[in-house]
Amino acid sequence: MHKGAIDREAVLKTLDEYDRMGREAFLAAYGYGEARSYLLVHEGKEYDSKAVAGVAHQHVHGRALRPDEFSGGRDHAARWLRDLGFHVKSVRNPDWARDELILACDLVAKNDWRGLDAGNPRVVELSQLLQLMPVHAQADRNETFRNPNGVARKTFDIATRHPDYRGKPTNGGALDRIVLQDFLDRPAEMENSARLLREGIASGELTAAAPVSDDEMDDYSAPEGRLLLRQHLARERNRGLRKRKIEAVLRQGGTLACEACGFDFERQYGERGAGYIECHHVVPLHEAGEGRTKLADLALICANCHRVIHRQAPWPTPKQLREIVEARR
Ligand SMILES: [Zn+2]
Ligand SMILES: [Zn+2]
Repeated sequence: MHKGAIDREAVLKTLDEYDRMGREAFLAAYGYGEARSYLLVHEGKEYDSKAVAGVAHQHVHGRALRPDEFSGGRDHAARWLRDLGFHVKSVRNPDWARDELILACDLVAKNDWRGLDAGNPRVVELSQLLQLMPVHAQADRNETFRNPNGVARKTFDIATRHPDYRGKPTNGGALDRIVLQDFLDRPAEMENSARLLREGIASGELTAAAPVSDDEMDDYSAPEGRLLLRQHLARERNRGLRKRKIEAVLRQGGTLACEACGFDFERQYGERGAGYIECHHVVPLHEAGEGRTKLADLALICANCHRVIHRQAPWPTPKQLREIVEARR
């Protein structure tokens, strides 16, 4: 049987059966547990979405799927049901991402490291900002996503983790503490990052694209969060800028060898590699942002060195990477 090959009618029949039997009996009959991640909402009622998707198979393929045969996640059961036009909502909101925590932490810092209440206009404003950020897909959010209550709670989680706070900390995740520590260690840099995030969201420059997934950014690390990192990488891929940089280097009698390791694409690959090199923007994200990119801020870097630079924050300069490479020769 092809998993996920179900139709709307099969799902509606399953919902009827679910209603007739009641939740507990339905789940027990097919061996399912209560939904932890997604609920199907139909005519004002909520259903365990994975169980419904699995049981619906029996109306198309003659037998229901067992829970261990497939995942209920957004790429499987939740997706199949959405593709059929059903409303599937997330039970929990996604954990706070680094980008979001930077903004929350900035707000707490500007409030002398005290938490803010849900009625505070700055909390309401941040709540609206977070809802605009393309960090979490709409499908993963529910109706309480980053509402003023949730934002206020987060400001207290952060404030009560501050080293000067006397009392018992409220909850909060490990990432809260990491971002807080970054603010304590490098306040100017983190404040700038928060400002750039706010500006980029307000101007629409950072909000236009699809959500940035963790997978997409897995091999990259930037203290400034995913949105600014993506903006940084997009600038580096600007073809016009790269072309001008390459022309400027050649005009001055230079070669297109990697500034860190000396790799030369043409020497290695002949005609196929001629003229190729990547551009790396050496100005950190929290300092970039305003104004145009200057050619002097770009370094010519081979693809391997470029990956290695971005892999771990803080990013080494091309010169620092060259020292590492030379020390190993
Ligand atoms: Zn290189
Ligand atoms: Zn780069």
